[in-house]
Amino acid sequence: MLTDLLKPAISSPARRRVTVGPVVFGGPAVPVIAGPCAVEPEYVSHALAMRDAGASMLRGSIFKPRTRPDAFQGLGEEGLALVETARALTGKPVLVEPLSVEHVELLSGRVDAFMIGARSMQNTPLLRAAGRSGLPVVLKRGMAATYDEWLAAADYILAEDNPQVILCERGIRTFETATRNTLDVSAVPVLRERTPLPVIVDPSHAAGRADWVPALALAAVAAGADGLLVESHPQPAESWSDAAQAITPETLEAIIAGAAVLAPMLRGHQATELAEHRQIIDALDLALGAVLQSRAHAVDAVQRDKRRTGLAVRDREREQEVISHVASRVPRLAPEAVARVMTAVIDGCVEAAGRSAAAEAEPERVAG
Ligand code: PEP
Ligand code: MN
Repeated sequence: MLTDLLKPAISSPARRRVTVGPVVFGGPAVPVIAGPCAVEPEYVSHALAMRDAGASMLRGSIFKPRTRPDAFQGLGEEGLALVETARALTGKPVLVEPLSVEHVELLSGRVDAFMIGARSMQNTPLLRAAGRSGLPVVLKRGMAATYDEWLAAADYILAEDNPQVILCERGIRTFETATRNTLDVSAVPVLRERTPLPVIVDPSHAAGRADWVPALALAAVAAGADGLLVESHPQPAESWSDAAQAITPETLEAIIAGAAVLAPMLRGHQATELAEHRQIIDALDLALGAVLQSRAHAVDAVQRDKRRTGLAVRDREREQEVISHVASRVPRLAPEAVARVMTAVIDGCVEAAGRSAAAEAEPERVAG
């Protein structure tokens, strides 16, 4: 079975579950945190678009640690009201980045989780304050930090009796200049071995360009990431900050669907209760649906070719071969059960191809 075949790809030593409201990191799901780089005046509508695209949680950055002092620095306290409205209207938890100990105090009780940005990874008073807040903390990797330095930074938060730490890989400085940073996918399997803390990935700040974000996001999930943090904006080109890397809500939706399909195929199942077992079954069924959809498209192409070359619609010998081949890969089910399923799949795909052919022929008939 495919799942068994791929299971060893991602080791599943004991994971710590970090919960932010209803969102669980380190469990069977791969939550996606999304939103614009910075909170802008239209943030509430942006947040609703993220919720509708399937985001589990919102980015709500009101203080921006920009490289240049003349760049937009965030709406500051004024943006907090927008974040609170978005949180109430969407029902989604919000992740906000404090840049100082004062920000931690200002935000405590008004946001659901803190993000310590790459530039702040070694700001030890900030790490301690975030730890003392008791809120979950997403700790980004500094852009030139080793795994040991990153884990040591996490220890500052953990030392304040706050076990709710999530590590976030966001790309590191290398000699390459094509991408904004180099996504270190290796961080995921290495840290899964070194720490029980969930590890999530931000493909946006690694890629620096929107069209590379989906590939990096799915590579991270394939490597075992426990979640994603993605910059998305309903009108990417109009983003007040990091416009080049902002993806549309449609692309975000595709990433979320892809992650949901990939995750249960590649990792050992980590469910601890009925609801989670059902979550895994729902994700696997989604994967089955995606496979069926692709298979139907492939059968369309085969049938088109057969019409062109005058071959029969059905080839029973080939169908038997397909059925036995699949049965040999699914020892968990009786061969007769696999045969029933595959016969239904083959029939369904051939029927769908017939409907596509009829639809294609129809305009010609009308026109003729
Ligand atoms: C961010 O995610 O808002 C951000 C500033 O990213 P980083 O700290 O990874 O540069
Ligand atoms: Mn950004």
